[in-house]
Amino acid sequence: MSFREKITVYPVHNMDGYKFVSQIEAAIRFYDREPDVSVNVIPLSPREYDGSRRQFKADLIIEKIAQVRDSDKKGKSLGVTSIDISMPNMNFVFGVTNTVKKVSLLSTARLTLISKELFLGAKTVEERIFKESAHEIGHLLGLTHCPEPMCIMSFANTLKQVDDKLPILCNNCREKLKGLR
Ligand SMILES: [Zn+2]
Ligand SMILES: [Zn+2]
Repeated sequence: MSFREKITVYPVHNMDGYKFVSQIEAAIRFYDREPDVSVNVIPLSPREYDGSRRQFKADLIIEKIAQVRDSDKKGKSLGVTSIDISMPNMNFVFGVTNTVKKVSLLSTARLTLISKELFLGAKTVEERIFKESAHEIGHLLGLTHCPEPMCIMSFANTLKQVDDKLPILCNNCREKLKGLR
């Protein structure tokens, strides 16, 4: 019997983000947690859409995921979506976590963009999804932002910053994580 904590994954708006479900599962297992992958899409409404910015409001989506999660009687959860999301004080976010509600949201919208300035190997988009899901799950487990640019927990708001990260936690974050268990 395994008693590893489960992290529930929900598709948000549609199933498109699940193209990368194996990277998301790997990011959960990276923390020795067990992925519990739901195929019930959480639908969005005009309330969550900001027409002037043509983006969806991450904070309201998080609330919606929390409601579904509570009625499903699940614990920590990660929503995955392919739509572009933002927060009131940001142009966009790759992902966001609400530690009080114990919900993360990851958007693949910008992580799948290929920039001409960056030379990309074939695996890079998958690596980005892994690193940024692992970043949000790190928050979900209590980690905060890390000043080490190579660390998964460093804050990224450009693809270059995502690509410059290594798919690991620095020693400091690893030590912090032990204290959080
Ligand atoms: Zn963060
Ligand atoms: Zn770190």
